[in-house]
Amino acid sequence: MNIPLLDLKAQYQSIQQEINQKILEVASSQKFILGSEVESLEKEIAAYSETRFATGVSSGSDALIVSLMAFDVGEGDAVITTPFTFFATAGAVARLKARPVFCDIDKTGCNLSPEKLEELLEDQSKEHQSLKIRAIIPVHLYGQCADMTPIMNLARKHDLFVIEDAAQAIGAEYPSFSGTKKACAMGDFGVLSFFPSKNLGAFGDGGMVLTNDDSLAQKIKLLRVHGSRDKYFYEILGGNFRLDALQAAILRVKLKHLESWQQKRIEKASYYDGIFKESGLGEEGKIQIPVSLHKDKGIKNYHVYHQYVIRAEKRDRLKEFLKEKGVATAIYYPLPLHLQKCFSYLGYKEGDFPVAEEAAREVLALPIYPELTSDQQEFIVSSIQSFYKG
Ligand SMILES: *Cc1c(COP(=O)(O)O)cnc(C)c1O
Repeated sequence: MNIPLLDLKAQYQSIQQEINQKILEVASSQKFILGSEVESLEKEIAAYSETRFATGVSSGSDALIVSLMAFDVGEGDAVITTPFTFFATAGAVARLKARPVFCDIDKTGCNLSPEKLEELLEDQSKEHQSLKIRAIIPVHLYGQCADMTPIMNLARKHDLFVIEDAAQAIGAEYPSFSGTKKACAMGDFGVLSFFPSKNLGAFGDGGMVLTNDDSLAQKIKLLRVHGSRDKYFYEILGGNFRLDALQAAILRVKLKHLESWQQKRIEKASYYDGIFKESGLGEEGKIQIPVSLHKDKGIKNYHVYHQYVIRAEKRDRLKEFLKEKGVATAIYYPLPLHLQKCFSYLGYKEGDFPVAEEAAREVLALPIYPELTSDQQEFIVSSIQSFYKG
């Protein structure tokens, strides 16, 4: 049985007519830069994410950069984030000449640990104290929100701003002290990516910056067009960070289906949980199913399962075995960011973030997408069982 990690062709087939019609509409209009499709998408995504403002930008990576630029982050500044994320989270900080300061994760959700964050912020002896810590970027990895209540409390106490990296977690909900909050609605900014494989994916690159703050939203809109309010007059230094009208038009079609796709992902994840429990692999210590930290707290999208990630003994051999069976899997991420060559100048070494390093050795993402069938899921789990039976 051939099972891809993600089947975007199946998704396209289900909405082909709507999408094609929309593409033709944009082609007929010949209006490609910003305009009404982008503005409508911004309003719709702000409503979906329960924030006041949203600004479409060129990618998730650029959404991070432009958010940091809005706070004038640069040389002499430091930004705290997790070493267990996609490269862009820390890459954005370094590209602005600020220093990424890593903080280990919690084993359960693989997200920034509030306890470790507190230790880091209270520890005056650390080298980075000569720099000015400006911000925290928690990442909602795999589609589950980081523990935002303690993170926001620490940020307020230390006067830091917060950018939620929600590239993998559009629509994920978090049970905060002030009621249920959506990803992107808790920090000063929330950033989304519309990379094709994300839960809401474009036909190319795209991203968005969300906020509840009017003046911050205006600043992002300015930065997106080279810092110019009136054409050919530049107030601040920005760049070309625009989202294409064509991408916005496609995303608006897909957005109408997003909530039903999210629910299907959650159903598939529960089905995996159930058949893994029946398999006994967990009790034998061979694998661990993903932990849903915010489940059973009366919220629907406690985890939007951008990825369904297990921990596995002999992970690399299991991955090879599944490949031979036709099952695609992936490792997000094989090397934590503090050990990446391009960050060697930061001076970190192996052992600095043991929880992230352990995760990098054990995680394995299994196929999950709305069109995945229960037969396919059963095949995947029984293949994993046969691997461990040897
Ligand atoms: C995908 C992703 C990004 C970057 O988004 P692009 O649109 O690919 O630039 C940033 N952070 C995380 C956690 C991501 O998964």
